[in-house]
Amino acid sequence: MANVGFIGLGNMGGPMAANLVKGGHKVQVFDLSEAALSAAKEAGCSIVSSATEAATHVDFIVTMLPADKHVKSVYLADDGLITVLSKDTLAIDCSTISAETARFVGAALKEKGIDFIDAPVSGGVGGAKACTLTFICGGEAGAVARARDVLQAMGKNIFHAGEMGAGQVAKICNNMLLSVLMVGTSEALQLGIAHGLDPKVLSQIMAASSGSNWTLDVYNPCPGVMDNVPSSNGYQGGFLVDLMSKDLGLAQQAALASGAATPMGALTHNLYRSWSQLGHGREDFSSIFNYVKPISK
Ligand code: NAD
Repeated sequence: MANVGFIGLGNMGGPMAANLVKGGHKVQVFDLSEAALSAAKEAGCSIVSSATEAATHVDFIVTMLPADKHVKSVYLADDGLITVLSKDTLAIDCSTISAETARFVGAALKEKGIDFIDAPVSGGVGGAKACTLTFICGGEAGAVARARDVLQAMGKNIFHAGEMGAGQVAKICNNMLLSVLMVGTSEALQLGIAHGLDPKVLSQIMAASSGSNWTLDVYNPCPGVMDNVPSSNGYQGGFLVDLMSKDLGLAQQAALASGAATPMGALTHNLYRSWSQLGHGREDFSSIFNYVKPISK
């Protein structure tokens, strides 16, 4: 079993670190939030007082941070992980960030002889808790193989998408598609409700028909249709509108850089950005259901 450092114990990182402990690994953790640290302590992690301390004397350092700027600064700031990481430690960044930043951080570490992989995840908070996440890795095959046991303790599927940054590209493709499915599903449900249909029955019909998709199967956006999903919990405890908006921004940047045509992605990016500006940024992304509510006549 390995010694693992873990930085970023939020909605995703908290349960992931707890699962590493359950998998028999020795886990030392750091977060800026005291509440997150206390929860990790209860789950059996050792608390340390800085990010650099978390990255010292470990076989693996895992980071699960909000966005590009956090990852860049945690790794590369003057007092960042790069100053303390040993060549024997493999750095695994599970945050969703731009492929560009992943490559930049990876290259800076590589110059010091430290291996790095990008390993963003899919599966949401439910997947993080249930240990069923999908890891989408980018980096050298040897480094991805080395990470396998640790990733396996936090998830179910491990894919190697390609070179450094490829994990991030695959991840934003997936999230762009997910946002399109979420908005489409929300519109269809609101249309049915506006015509007097029971959303539970309509969901069952569409889930068994050609409109079937992940949001209908496990993440219904209409309150009361499913238990244990954010929509039935005041849109709390899932994947924030602000984070989805960030991912859609990354997808648009990538589309511009490559010339790919992503009109649906551009539309959902605008919808999520304006939903956030209307004050819903801290809600789960399924709350977009309320943005497409029919206007009462
Ligand atoms: P979160 O905001 O709940 O957690 C982020 C954590 O990072 C917080 O606890 C915060 O205190 C900590 N943090 C920030 N800066 C730090 C620093 N400098 N040092 C130490 N800790 C720091 O976010 P989350 O929902 O856990 O998401 C994390 C990443 O995973 C994001 O990139 C997100 O896009 C991605 N993701 C989230 C989901 C989801 O369903 N929530 C699903 C897949 C991927």
